[in-house]
Amino acid sequence: MHNDRVVVVGGGIAGLTAAIYAAKAGKQTILLEKQERLGGRAITNQKKGAYFNLGGRALYHGDARATFEELGMRLQGSQPSIDAYGIWKGNLHVMPMGIGSLFSTPLLSWKGKIELGAWLARFGKLDTHLYDRISLREWIEGNVHDPMVRHLFYSLLRTASYVAAPDLLAAGPVLEQLKRSLKGVLYLDRGWGAMVEELRGIALEYGVEMVTKQKAVAIVHEKGVVQHVLCEDGTQFQAGHIIAATPPAITYQLVPGAESTSLRNWREQAVEITAACLDVALRRLPKPKQQFVYGIDQPVFLSNQSRAAHLSDYGDQVVSLIKYHGRNKDPKKDLQDLEQTLDIVQPGWRDQLVEKQYLPNMTVSHDFMHMHRMVNPGPAVPEIAGLYVAGDWVTHGELLVDASTASAKRAVQSLLLQGGAERSSYDQHRITV
Ligand SMILES: Cc1cc2nc3c(=O)[nH]c(=O)nc-3n(C[C@H](O)[C@H](O)[C@H](O)COP(=O)(O)OP(=O)(O)OC[C@H]3O[C@@H](n4cnc5c(N)ncnc54)[C@H](O)[C@@H]3O)c2cc1C
Repeated sequence: MHNDRVVVVGGGIAGLTAAIYAAKAGKQTILLEKQERLGGRAITNQKKGAYFNLGGRALYHGDARATFEELGMRLQGSQPSIDAYGIWKGNLHVMPMGIGSLFSTPLLSWKGKIELGAWLARFGKLDTHLYDRISLREWIEGNVHDPMVRHLFYSLLRTASYVAAPDLLAAGPVLEQLKRSLKGVLYLDRGWGAMVEELRGIALEYGVEMVTKQKAVAIVHEKGVVQHVLCEDGTQFQAGHIIAATPPAITYQLVPGAESTSLRNWREQAVEITAACLDVALRRLPKPKQQFVYGIDQPVFLSNQSRAAHLSDYGDQVVSLIKYHGRNKDPKKDLQDLEQTLDIVQPGWRDQLVEKQYLPNMTVSHDFMHMHRMVNPGPAVPEIAGLYVAGDWVTHGELLVDASTASAKRAVQSLLLQGGAERSSYDQHRITV
């Protein structure tokens, strides 16, 4: 009776996207989310009239934006200027992001300016797929000569990927992401929570049944075929197809016998990207021009997201700071570093503080395209008919939320083809590193 029913576990962006596309294709679809709210890591918290995402967010010109546009979403917000400053040796300098700033910046020698100018002219045409199988460090050291231009590339590419490990990060996908970011990104009014709300509305229109506060504890299969999702309260949701839009470690726990499936390799090869995030709402900016700042010799980044999006009902400025984690994490030291960054960029900010949010250890993505990756996960779990995976870790070359939406659509396309062994056009997006 339930052979055609799709059950999606996890109500983040991947789960919502998967549920919408499955329902749009005519499948009876149920979405299960363990939290009270949908959205996962894309929720927005409102505090004293300010909208705080769980760390600063930018929507790139990638799969997610294209998907949301295809679904007819409004995505209200606007594109911030890419004019930026860089912190180098404790001081702020204009970051050379265009011809004017290239000539005026004191950061580069003439030789460096000529090299960066040449890169700015041709970067948009770079065939990034050529570098899918080498690390970012190999790419930079092999292609960029001036030491300061190298520093600038490391800083820009760290910000584009959130990864502070250039030896591990595959160069091609992040170079592609930088190309996209130079075309401009979108900051959303009322934060990413507004985007989640729009997705929820579309899911409702397509008839998706969404059940929150419903924690899945097992994805039950028999003789290699999925049967049902068992929830903590004992409810069983029978299904012909199950899409696990949950992190790799949770997906592994949910599936009995996962150790003899591909889920084991996918979990073992996954490398998390984490960051410390400080968001502050300020009555006004002590230094109104200094709104967008890259750390050049330190792994930090600051953006006043209010310069392009409505993020406070009272006109306050919502500034997001990120410290990219490398090998070391120390919540106290990370907070100190982030506050010191604010001291440099917005001296006197404490006098303007309305509210703050500090998240010392956020998982930005559960995996990415890195040099130790053996295989791209999903869309189907080959050992269990009817089981599929989606989420930012199910990347086939996309980064961050683009991987969530792209993998969700791959999962749905695979289940529509029944069996999932078929390779689809979605799968051909990127090759394995
Ligand atoms: C600080 C930070 C900054 C970021 N910045 C950007 C950015 O600028 N641009 C960008 O593109 N991306 C960015 N990202 C990444 C982006 O937010 C994520 O990639 C995306 O939101 C992940 O969505 P997901 O659905 O794959 O996973 P999740 O949001 O993690 O969703 C998984 C869902 O599954 C639910 N779940 C887990 N276990 C169960 C269970 N047993 N039963 C039922 N439900 C369960 C969880 O509650 C959750 O809702 C950022 C992330 C962070 C943290």
